[in-house]
Amino acid sequence: MKSARPRVIAGNWKMNKTVEEALAFVRDLLPQIEGNAGDVLLAVPFTAIYPLAQAAEGSRLLIGAQNMNDASEGAYTGEVAALMLIDAGAKFVLLGHSERRHLFGESDEWIHKKVVRAVKDGIAPLLCIGETLLERGDGRTKEVLERQLLSALSGLSAEELASLRIAYEPVWAIGTGETATPSLAQEAHSFIRSWLSSHLSKEFADKTPLLYGGSVTPENSRQLLEEADIDGLLIGGASLSLDSFVKIVHDSTF
Ligand code: PEP
Repeated sequence: MKSARPRVIAGNWKMNKTVEEALAFVRDLLPQIEGNAGDVLLAVPFTAIYPLAQAAEGSRLLIGAQNMNDASEGAYTGEVAALMLIDAGAKFVLLGHSERRHLFGESDEWIHKKVVRAVKDGIAPLLCIGETLLERGDGRTKEVLERQLLSALSGLSAEELASLRIAYEPVWAIGTGETATPSLAQEAHSFIRSWLSSHLSKEFADKTPLLYGGSVTPENSRQLLEEADIDGLLIGGASLSLDSFVKIVHDSTF
């Protein structure tokens, strides 16, 4: 049941904001989300994790990362490990974002290894999945979602995946201004929930938050959240502006 799941509003800042800009944003945000029901998350650049996690300590805001390596440590120049993110104060990590898959060539197999590492080292994964325009045009949306889910979560139990959140982000809707209609997004979310129910358990499927992402704005957020299986939103562009992010958070509790 939808009501049993927490509402989750997550921002993804991508490669934006200096530490100073990030701190100013969070200091202004915190008093505006106090007492708000649901979870508020911000996936920020690595450089901003520690100061923001300190600033958000004791509040309802969870600071997270946008990526990590699957190894625990070692000679991987330029990479960051799960334990480093936890040490810096990150409470979750985006894995498999379409920009990582498509711009940086991250494979299903690598994303699986990252999910396993996140689970093992104790940081909550926010797994992103979604089809391209071509795949949707070919009628392959469900096949793609199924492949991405099967690969990312294989071999992991419902218990191990207790902190998992999933974001359905159709690639054609990310940063394009073209949002999926609420009913199209709901159809994908309902498919994901059924898949979780048959491959893990109904109890697991019922409690796992499913977020929609792709050109969410204050104008379309509420309608999306009214759908039965849309528990939250992952927001890129509109999370960079305090006004639009706060508006989406406020509009999300109904
Ligand atoms: C994202 O980066 O996950 C995203 C959904 O971006 P945007 O909201 O800008 O489409």
